[in-house]
Amino acid sequence: MNPCLVYIVSLGHSGSTILQYLLAGQTNVLGLGEIARLNRGRDLSNSLQRCSCGLSVNSCSIWKDIVTDKNTSETSFYTHLSEKLKVHFPQVTHWIDTSKSLKHIDPWLQQLKDGVISEIKILYLFRDVRGWALSEKARRNKRKLPSRSLLMLMFDWKRRQKRMLKQLQKTQPDFLIVSYESIIFQTQSALERIASFVDLQVDNKNWLEGLKKSVVHDVYGNRMKDDPVKRSQIIYDDRWQYHFCINLLTPLLFPVWRLNTRLRTSGQP
Ligand SMILES: [Zn+2]
Repeated sequence: MNPCLVYIVSLGHSGSTILQYLLAGQTNVLGLGEIARLNRGRDLSNSLQRCSCGLSVNSCSIWKDIVTDKNTSETSFYTHLSEKLKVHFPQVTHWIDTSKSLKHIDPWLQQLKDGVISEIKILYLFRDVRGWALSEKARRNKRKLPSRSLLMLMFDWKRRQKRMLKQLQKTQPDFLIVSYESIIFQTQSALERIASFVDLQVDNKNWLEGLKKSVVHDVYGNRMKDDPVKRSQIIYDDRWQYHFCINLLTPLLFPVWRLNTRLRTSGQP
């Protein structure tokens, strides 16, 4: 039986890392992180870059011998990876790619066409606009990027979510809207809903227990993947709840508020 590819589409800092770790707590699931970032002409043959499994890229069971230099074509990279995964992890039924942007799904559509994978299931993960805007503002400050007002960030959130939804409606594979908040506050039911959507045989019904043992092979994802304490528990950044300005502004920006409410309603179990 060919595996199913679970592709996570989201904006940055919307919870794709924790979602991947939760899913990978099941024995039949293999989390592969942001695969598209590996396939950007980077020469990994002598790389000291670490995989989230704790080993260097050259020692990791997944990424060693996977050549990614500027001479490797996209197709051969994905073909080589799929062949290797099928040989080394024959029991795995689901692979996860957290590349986020839909522009990186084409090589998987090709793998589907070639009969290498059985199907592609897209999880469209979104985070409440208030939490996302504050987190994005903090990230920009930390990285010394040009500062943007909360107002601009909220409109940016709406513009990008709308664009992703439009692209998703045009893409062939099925997609499921998943709210980040539902994963945090309704973990069991949210994950059961996802498992049913991706046809995953759940062998550990306690998702939080699975999270503690979960191993993922993510090379370029969020920094959280390198922190064994943070990645093995669910931590929610609730600062937006105490932020007067953002709570006052959001309902006034009616189109932003409407989309946030619509997504939240569709994304809950
Ligand atoms: Zn690894």
